[in-house]
Amino acid sequence: MKLEAVELRRVSIPLREPWRTAHGVLYERDVLLVRALTDGAEGWGECGALSEPGYSPEWVDGAAEVLRRWLVPGVVGTDVNAEDVGPRCASIPGHQMAKAALETAVLDAELRNAGLSLAAFLGATRNRVPAGVAVGFIEPLPALLATVERFVTEGYARVKLKIAPGHDLGIVGAVRKRFPHIALQVDANGAYSPDEMDALVALDPFDLLLLEQPFPPDDLLAHAALARRARTPVCLDESIVSADSARVALALGACSVVNIKAPRVGGVLEARRIHDLCVAADVPVWCGGMLETGIGRALNVALAALPGFTLPGDLSASDRYYERDLTEPFVLDDGCLNVPTGAGIGVVPNADVLLELTTSVETITAD
Ligand code: MG
Repeated sequence: MKLEAVELRRVSIPLREPWRTAHGVLYERDVLLVRALTDGAEGWGECGALSEPGYSPEWVDGAAEVLRRWLVPGVVGTDVNAEDVGPRCASIPGHQMAKAALETAVLDAELRNAGLSLAAFLGATRNRVPAGVAVGFIEPLPALLATVERFVTEGYARVKLKIAPGHDLGIVGAVRKRFPHIALQVDANGAYSPDEMDALVALDPFDLLLLEQPFPPDDLLAHAALARRARTPVCLDESIVSADSARVALALGACSVVNIKAPRVGGVLEARRIHDLCVAADVPVWCGGMLETGIGRALNVALAALPGFTLPGDLSASDRYYERDLTEPFVLDDGCLNVPTGAGIGVVPNADVLLELTTSVETITAD
């Protein structure tokens, strides 16, 4: 497949409500889309990078720049398939989200040419996946409880709360007391230091599905120490940037669950390798999210249909974040999202919405 040109398109899509994390507040999602223009079909990929570094070192302007200057020039104008993208980008360390977006665009085009859905290509075994919802920091507590109640009523299969030092026991205890039977888990995004471990062990009575990334990404030993002390399963997110890092984390006993995000690990092919590794180790995985539009959500839903994804993912319906998605909206169907069945990622942007929300477009060719 000849990759004739690559389009980098920026889209600004308003969030229905501000998204607050320990790293800041987002009011809109500044999304970088990558479009692969080939001698056959075209393909789309969405970059997971947020507006500012925080979740990871990447940010959307940086991702656009590394694609423009180094990643796209390494593949454009050549015969390429998705398996080639990672190796061709290997001389540039890091920048997994930028690489993932490029790989996805090429893979989408390749699969559309072949008439094969991403889910089928990956080896999916389900046609619908349970949808969990992530709740950011919301104050005061009654507002948080009202938000959780809304999502439980909408049918979400699991709720995830963000926690941080000083914002943990009280929040989790109140939610658990109000909703004794919901599937509940927490995510600290690395906000704790190892000497704050007692506060995390104290979450044990709340019957949480898992405790996600309590310590900074590099500190696998602290995660292993907590995993030995706590009854709540420890899950890693930011620490797992590749199949190799997953192998090390599992060998150290740093986690017993893995959150897989294709953008964080350089693409869906590496994500599948991590899935396979975890299945072989009998470690359950689930699919995390980066507030994706329908383009990235379609990929997540296909990935989450693989057999090792035995826990509900952060796979919300489009209306969790957006009044109007870039694609046909993903909707909750009895607490689940349906896996797209069309070729490639199975969705395309709505041309009118895309035009309205686009803030810049550039097309890169080999010339
Ligand atoms: Mg997380």
